[in-house]
Amino acid sequence: STARAGNFLRAAIDDDLQKGTYAHRRWGGSPGDGAHHGAGVPDPARIRTRFPPEPNGYLHLGHAKSIWLNFSSAQEYGGVCHLRFDDTNPEKEEQEYVDSIRDVVRWLGYDSRFADVPGQPGAVQDHVYYASDYFDFMYRAAEYLVESGHAYVDEQTPDEMRANRGDFNTPGTDSPFRSRSPADNLARLRAMRDGQLADGAAVLRAKIDMASPNINLRDPAIYRIRRATHHNTGDKWCIYPMYTFAHPIEDALEQITHSFCTLEFEDQRPFYDWLLERLTEGGLLHSPPPRQYEFARLNVTHVITSKRRLRQLVEQGHVDGWDDPRMPTLAGLRRRGYTPDALRLFCERSGVSKSGGWIDYAALEGALRDVLDPVAPRALAVLDPVRLELTNWDSVFGLGHLEVCHAPLNPHDPEAGQRAFTLGRESWVEREDFMAVPGKGYRRLYPPHTGGDGQPKEGNKVRLKYGYVVQCTGFEQDADGRVTKVLAEIIPDTKSGTPGADSVKVKGVIGWVGAHEATPAEFRLYERLFRAEHPGQAELEDELNPDSLQVMHGYVEAGLLQNLYSEEHAPQPWQFERLGYFIRDCNAPVSDTQVVFNRASGLKDGWK
Ligand code: ATP
Ligand code: MG
Ligand code: MG
Repeated sequence: STARAGNFLRAAIDDDLQKGTYAHRRWGGSPGDGAHHGAGVPDPARIRTRFPPEPNGYLHLGHAKSIWLNFSSAQEYGGVCHLRFDDTNPEKEEQEYVDSIRDVVRWLGYDSRFADVPGQPGAVQDHVYYASDYFDFMYRAAEYLVESGHAYVDEQTPDEMRANRGDFNTPGTDSPFRSRSPADNLARLRAMRDGQLADGAAVLRAKIDMASPNINLRDPAIYRIRRATHHNTGDKWCIYPMYTFAHPIEDALEQITHSFCTLEFEDQRPFYDWLLERLTEGGLLHSPPPRQYEFARLNVTHVITSKRRLRQLVEQGHVDGWDDPRMPTLAGLRRRGYTPDALRLFCERSGVSKSGGWIDYAALEGALRDVLDPVAPRALAVLDPVRLELTNWDSVFGLGHLEVCHAPLNPHDPEAGQRAFTLGRESWVEREDFMAVPGKGYRRLYPPHTGGDGQPKEGNKVRLKYGYVVQCTGFEQDADGRVTKVLAEIIPDTKSGTPGADSVKVKGVIGWVGAHEATPAEFRLYERLFRAEHPGQAELEDELNPDSLQVMHGYVEAGLLQNLYSEEHAPQPWQFERLGYFIRDCNAPVSDTQVVFNRASGLKDGWK
């Protein structure tokens, strides 16, 4: 399916393509070097978008939306999407996050490679960029703003600066440093750069309008002093650009055409445009500049999408790491059994709009089911096992007989073929598929008993899925009254797929696995991590669901262990019939005798 960007963003792209806004642009190769900017050959990519994560944590569901939007728009228009690490903040960024981001973008099915290397036909360029590679250019841009009277070094204290900014009702007050001459400002900026001022002693501010109704235009800070070692540039710099200054420059240097941001950046757009206009005027950048467009961020009920909050969950031990299958990180969702197709479908269905809102968590699971149902192989499993003994087995079939049963690997895909397993004297069935005294409407296994009307009732008949009809005759229990074994008799000539299959009508069908061949398995069943519908407003402890993980020990169909992996050797999700979609946990140790499954989601409707 072709992923479609939201209508208003598509309209903006269509409009630019029609007008030829970016048609005369030239692609100069290395964006870090401002001198080359725009000096190369005509740009073969019709549009350029970018996904600009800050490598300070693992990506989450919200980022999937942005990845999908940026990459699929570029793909759809034959353009290119840059993967840009927005690593201008020296304090929080780590290589570990860079690696995990690259990995997960690729996993989602997106590629930043594009065959557009100027002068090298057939070559492919991987458009992965690091904002910190542009520090030299950014500093040059800062000096230009100072020299042209558009920026000044402010040495007010942070408290004074805050007080003088004003608020929504009150215009700001000019800093006493605002009227310094460009020459003085340049000397002060260089002093900042050369380490002659202490951290926090001064900031460089754009000189715009302290009375602007948009507070973001009241002389925003664009450079600060921070003695911190940067993962890329080491100790070369002790001043670092602010995000609002760095981001438009990054977009411009990479010749991004359409810069998609979430709505919180709407008020920053006037500064984005102001800055790029100044730098274009000064000849540092080529026209036309990129444009910023805002869309509503993805919010999903019962889900938190904030790296800061997710970090808290990990650090406070509420979950077992960033890739805990309950986490909305892409690493967690992958381990949970979500597939790239399912996540892309979810992003597409959730749409792109200008107004925020909450998407129901059920839509996420719905997308997963819709993607997995046609393709996931099926198997039988028993999560909470109790023994079922067919007491007449030996007299019907002979001692030790095993009856081979067949089932489709996937009922929607006959070509996928059949799976085979065997029925014998003893099987595992779900504990909840038996009741010593049946409740009203209960259709599964129950023994002969006296009904509510005082009359004797027969033991119930059910079909063992893909096998025979059996009739319950009794049960055994321990001293505590816990059922230890269910007893039943097989009804001959009722095997599924044989002419006699319909000779005995039953109302219940249950899952089972042969006790002689079942593989023991651990099942981890997950519920929403947050009870709160719109989490993130209160203390984590008050919003968390204390029962988000349930561990069960049971059995899976024989032969499954050999088939757990896809052709790419990644674990693939299975549908355990009636129980849901499961995937082998990729972190649990593998052995021939034990396997751990995560439940990705339940089924919308199981068979009864
Ligand atoms: P967080 O608040 O979790 O730290 P962020 O926006 O600060 O998120 P970045 O690494 O800066 O994280 O995000 C990279 C891109 O992903 C940005 O363009 C941002 O707008 C986008 N993004 C982040 N969260 C969402 C979301 N919930 N919906 C849509 N886009 C998002
Ligand atoms: Mg950010
Ligand atoms: Mg953030």
